[in-house]
Amino acid sequence: MKKLFIASSNAHKLEEIRDILNRNGISDIEIVCPKDLDIKEEPVEDGSTFEENAYIKASFYHDIVNYPTIADDSGICIDFFDGKPGIHSARFMPELDYPERNARIVEMMKDTDNRGACFVDVLCFIDKDNKINYYKGVNEGEIARKPAGVKGFGYDPIFLIPEYGMTEAELGEDYKNEYSHRAKALKGWIVDATDKL
Ligand code: IMP
Repeated sequence: MKKLFIASSNAHKLEEIRDILNRNGISDIEIVCPKDLDIKEEPVEDGSTFEENAYIKASFYHDIVNYPTIADDSGICIDFFDGKPGIHSARFMPELDYPERNARIVEMMKDTDNRGACFVDVLCFIDKDNKINYYKGVNEGEIARKPAGVKGFGYDPIFLIPEYGMTEAELGEDYKNEYSHRAKALKGWIVDATDKL
């Protein structure tokens, strides 16, 4: 069976990636992640774009395992904050946990109608010929007036999908794993890259 290394230690992301691959009929690949190989070192994500950070992660782990490797870098871009936190989403307001952070964002935005936001995901895939490929997914939405829902992770409780009138944390995996930034990027990878494994 062909092997694919997924360069992420984020259990939520890994679960989504596995489910998205399954939903798209990719079940004949052995997926390996850092935990499976007890790899504890982590790359320093000091790039200035999603692409750079995805490449940093993919190349760091590819140098260790030496077989096809995929890494994603993702984040939320909020219009009211001029596109921030973007690539810094994991480290935004680090003193607060996610429920507190989401509550703070909603509070800071309570008087504005400028509610646009998007989730961005960039995958970097180093294929069997050591070629570097990128796939991007963007999902547009709005910042909710208050956090809602318990599914998903991170900023999902404040990411409102206007056509459903619900947040991603209310909609859950049947929505996310078809339409999220990560689902869109991975679908691009599936179309292009399964013969590059
Ligand atoms: P990364 O591991 O550097 O890609 O960090 C991405 C960060 O962006 C996560 O820790 C979350 O804060 C946020 N994020 C990315 N994707 C999602 C998502 O699907 N839902 C909620 N938050 C997300």
